[in-house]
Amino acid sequence: MANTKDYAIATLGSHSALQIMKGAKDEGMHAICICQKGKSQPYESYGVADEIIEVDDFNEGFFAIEDQLIAKNAIIVPHGSFVSYIGPQRMKDVRVMHYGDKGILEWESNRTKEREWLLSAGLKMPKIFKSGEEIDKPVIVKFHGAKGGFGYFIAKSPEEFYEKMKQHPEEKDYAIQEYIVGVPIYTHYFYSNLTGEMEVMSFDKRYESNADSIGRIAAKDQIDAGIETSYTITGNIPVVIRESLLPQIFEMGENVVKEAKKLVPKGLYGPFCLEAILDPKLNFYVFEISARIVAGTNPFTNGSPYTWLRYDVPMSTGRRIAREIKTAIECGRLEEILG
Ligand code: ATP
Repeated sequence: MANTKDYAIATLGSHSALQIMKGAKDEGMHAICICQKGKSQPYESYGVADEIIEVDDFNEGFFAIEDQLIAKNAIIVPHGSFVSYIGPQRMKDVRVMHYGDKGILEWESNRTKEREWLLSAGLKMPKIFKSGEEIDKPVIVKFHGAKGGFGYFIAKSPEEFYEKMKQHPEEKDYAIQEYIVGVPIYTHYFYSNLTGEMEVMSFDKRYESNADSIGRIAAKDQIDAGIETSYTITGNIPVVIRESLLPQIFEMGENVVKEAKKLVPKGLYGPFCLEAILDPKLNFYVFEISARIVAGTNPFTNGSPYTWLRYDVPMSTGRRIAREIKTAIECGRLEEILG
């Protein structure tokens, strides 16, 4: 039987690295954290990494130490910041072993392809307006590559849209999406392509500035002070969902995985997240998929109310990934989970 001690789990020190590192160690694997110079303190302080490699930056710096990782038989666990620092186009240049099919990241990062995928999986999505002229109801305008929702705005007519766009003269790449009134629910899935089983690990909602504090002042004061809503992500809040919604949650995840098998050779497996607004009639409007671990799993380093039902140890998503990698190594099936 192959020995997991001959392998390592590595990721960039950001996003969800703490839980990925801790999960790797809990599963008895060597954990390597690649940190930007001057930013390694959390990874040292929490003692989650067996090894810290410092680089000048997360792009060229990563490629500069890639041979070191290859020599250690490291397996990269990609998180949101990994994909964003390396860039979706350069992901295919990554030579070190990579957990997950890189091809699916292309479907995730291209808005048109992502929509095609999710609609073919039968999910409800907010309507997309092709131009400002078409706006006849409240919309949310999203800039592509906006860091964590900063600059997004709401408009309810073409006039308001064009007026607000004046503040973003340089932005050419944006989406005008129907604004769904409801509550955000982000579902964290884990699909094992070794066993064919779908798990719902946890849920979160985001803690955004200033969207989550604007209600602290009266609507009149908001208008008087000319306060606009922004959605800068600052953290994540755990959610436990109404139990009768769970069958639908499982079904949505399974349909997305089924469709992904038609798109890329190995499909979608491991952790992923459906980001949705749940309206008062209990319709899920999915506006995005993340085909990898999301930071919304971070409140659950010690497991979630759901993983506690299934596992006899605290099971974070980071640890679940490490367990999958370990199982694949031990069963001689590592190739199946790399991409
Ligand atoms: P990413 O997940 O790629 O980091 P982001 O953080 O930049 O994306 P989104 O998650 O798309 O931005 O959205 C930011 C905020 O806007 C979230 O609070 C989300 O719940 C809300 N939101 C997004 N789309 C809609 C929509 N169609 N209707 C209502 N609210 C929405």
